[in-house]
Amino acid sequence: MFAHIPPYAGDPILSLNEAFQKDPRQGKVNLSIGIYFDENGKIPALESVRKAEHLVVNAAGARPYLPMEGAANFRSAVQTLLFGDHPALKAGRIATIQGVGSSGGLKVAADFIKAHFPASKIYLSSPTWDNHRAVFEGSGVETTTYPYYQDGQVDFAGMLDALRQAPARSVVLLHACCHNPTGVDLSAAQWTELVKLLNERELLPFLDLAYQGYGDGLDEDLFAVRELLNAGGPFLLANSFSKNMSVYGERCGALSVVCPTAEQAEKVLGQLKFMIRRNYSNPPTFGGQVVATVLNTPELNQMWRNEVDAMRTRIKAMRKALHEVLSAKVPGRNFDYFLTQRGMFSYTGLSGEQVDALKDTHGVYLVRSGRMCVAGLNSKNVEVVANAMAAVLA
Ligand code: PMP
Repeated sequence: MFAHIPPYAGDPILSLNEAFQKDPRQGKVNLSIGIYFDENGKIPALESVRKAEHLVVNAAGARPYLPMEGAANFRSAVQTLLFGDHPALKAGRIATIQGVGSSGGLKVAADFIKAHFPASKIYLSSPTWDNHRAVFEGSGVETTTYPYYQDGQVDFAGMLDALRQAPARSVVLLHACCHNPTGVDLSAAQWTELVKLLNERELLPFLDLAYQGYGDGLDEDLFAVRELLNAGGPFLLANSFSKNMSVYGERCGALSVVCPTAEQAEKVLGQLKFMIRRNYSNPPTFGGQVVATVLNTPELNQMWRNEVDAMRTRIKAMRKALHEVLSAKVPGRNFDYFLTQRGMFSYTGLSGEQVDALKDTHGVYLVRSGRMCVAGLNSKNVEVVANAMAAVLA
């Protein structure tokens, strides 16, 4: 019956992570997967999140199903975090559903796009997070790419050129901050210019905000969201709490659709509910309640903001440390990109062969594209990594 089923090739990043777990070497360093590790190489349990967990556990009673769109307190907390007191929110123009992680939000959006924009393609940055293509194609949405990265910078002219050719109602996926995998973001002026073009060309922007707080700060990283809001919308936004609350396995995220009118927002919400109903029916309770409690309790919200600031500051310090050691060890080469790239990731410029050598000879794991998760560095391993990189670059 199942003889014709081909083997699954595996997800390149998750497979690498498994290979790392099995690697018996003492000094191995995992810089492949997009996870924030603390100074001790551990995934942190944030104090704000632990306190919220206790509150949620103590308050827990019966466990009914949540509504298809998720818990009301989670959805409104997410809206306040992302949209503040913007008139679009007050006007009821924003439909928000609780997702199963932001991956779940992306999937619901992909089904929505396929159903209601059947002729539209989605434009992805080249390169992008590998799973973007898989999620949209999995829902039957045709994908194509726009140029994004060249010689350590955003290829802004190439990007605009490609988007100028895109047919009206095409969907354009944009990383709101901390671009994965390159770590290279648009400047404020570039966002403003891009938003103007998207509006003029009647393209539908779709922001992916998986790393809010890791660029310049929780509010600062909403620059693109504010630009699109102020331009009047419409747009889609998938956001994640996996990284900024360190709740990866709880699968907490959301999808918001900013609409031209409240009436349209209500219809969009209805269709999102339909997509959810025929997929996983409704999201789980616990993680969403923990996130809502952090966001809705002023002391915990402030504690969380401080914890996010500390994670971002630590990554920046690691970028500096790596830059310093590498610049001393490989004097002919410019490593300034480690300082200018933002968020968890750096495109190192290492070739696939050099990445293989890092893994095989030195036990240092990067993704084969040369993407390094800088959030895996700490003061104990940064020198080991710099030495290993210097050796493969020699
Ligand atoms: N978008 C991007 C760009 C990501 O890097 C990730 C996580 N690696 C996600 C979405 C999904 O995150 P999650 O499902 O954990 O919220």
